[in-house]
Amino acid sequence: MAVIMPPSECPSCKSPLVFVNHILYCKNTACGEKLQKKLENFAQKVKIKGLGPSTIKKLDIQYVEDLYYLEKEEVVEKLGEKLGTKLFEEIKKSHDAPANLLLPAFSIPLVGATATAKLATVCNDIWDIDTDSCTKAGLGPKTAQELLDWKDENIFFLAALPHSMKFEKTNKTSNQEVVCITGKLSSYKTKAEATTVLNELGYEVKSSVTKDVTILVNESGIESAKVKKARESGVTIITNLSDLLETNNGDTSQVDR
Ligand SMILES: [Zn+2]
Repeated sequence: MAVIMPPSECPSCKSPLVFVNHILYCKNTACGEKLQKKLENFAQKVKIKGLGPSTIKKLDIQYVEDLYYLEKEEVVEKLGEKLGTKLFEEIKKSHDAPANLLLPAFSIPLVGATATAKLATVCNDIWDIDTDSCTKAGLGPKTAQELLDWKDENIFFLAALPHSMKFEKTNKTSNQEVVCITGKLSSYKTKAEATTVLNELGYEVKSSVTKDVTILVNESGIESAKVKKARESGVTIITNLSDLLETNNGDTSQVDR
């Protein structure tokens, strides 16, 4: 059997790649490809419409904070009256994005919607995030470490943003996704290994399809009775575990194992 070796360097900036929970990351904060994708991811997550790759190039911006330094005249000059005015309004509107949208928008490894929802139950704002609140929120140790390291390095970046950094409290007690794995896995050697990764990302993992299961992982693609039953009761069925992992970060330089 051929052994596939993961790449050792970032295809864009040639920095060495680092594994975080079986996903490869380029850790170079100045990596051009990453900055572009980070900005795209940010716009998408805080719902700024019309900020795709070509618009980012036209605006000639690199960093998320650059967005908020743009003057209206500048945007109009680069994009034209109609598009420019529209985009500027979109950017202005995004000032109101709560931390619930903001935090997953920063492309912090392992910190997606799930970790954010947990933090929102114990923190008032992003400034409240520390070792204690991460523990209280029930974040896995790796996720907490990634988040705290990120926060340490990004204090000035955060302070430069126009957002309140406040979490919106939802009435829902839990919007946690519950995962069940059925059949043989192809992306991980064992269910235990996959469970560890999912737990780290904040998913609960059940061994059978109980009422609270929201996602069924069926990598074998075999349409068993279990799969049928789950489908009938409206459970999301995914055939590749990486679909679930990718929604948790906006980093481009990740490569599946
Ligand atoms: Zn890179």
